[in-house]
Amino acid sequence: MALMNYCPRCANPLTTKHDGGRDRQACPDESCGFIHFGDFSIGCSGVVLREEAGETKALLVQRGQNPFAGSWQLPGGYAEHDEPLSLAVEREVEEEANVIAKVRDVVAFRHSLAGTIGGPSTNIYMIFRLDLIEGEPRHDGVEIADAGFFSLAEMERMEAVQGLSRWGIEQALITNPGSGLSPDRRAPGAERPGWQLFGLEDIDPTVWRR
Ligand SMILES: [Zn+2]
Repeated sequence: MALMNYCPRCANPLTTKHDGGRDRQACPDESCGFIHFGDFSIGCSGVVLREEAGETKALLVQRGQNPFAGSWQLPGGYAEHDEPLSLAVEREVEEEANVIAKVRDVVAFRHSLAGTIGGPSTNIYMIFRLDLIEGEPRHDGVEIADAGFFSLAEMERMEAVQGLSRWGIEQALITNPGSGLSPDRRAPGAERPGWQLFGLEDIDPTVWRR
């Protein structure tokens, strides 16, 4: 974890404090109370499927800029700290590929520790399945060099299809829509501002008891 020198709240030089079973950087001012737990981020990407002439194809975008310029991947990006996760992925899909799609469920996620391939912060990267609403793939030519729907067979012939994206697409192809974690608006607390709850909806009636 990257060391911080000063408190981001009150600018005091940080000291070390034993908290939650380990030493952490902390503000010496008790009225401030800041403790540095580490740097965390949340990424999201969307699998959007479309049937074309009897084939199922998935939306991919090609990165126009480094890192990994030229690489094909699912549309996605970082969620803002004040943005519900399902809106973040819907926004990224529209911004990067001009496709309007709505979150159905979560098909996979990756957890990567800080300083590894996920980036400088400890990262959760959620892969959602989205229902296509409308829009033909279009790209800005700068951040995104190309965009389109491709079958797994077509991806075999493309260079630099990101392995994580391909895995997410495969997860979506081998499971039923709604069988993953879905936004649950009836869950206890789901109406709280700033909360989004995801639960399993594909309930087995033989074990159902509530
Ligand atoms: Zn402080």
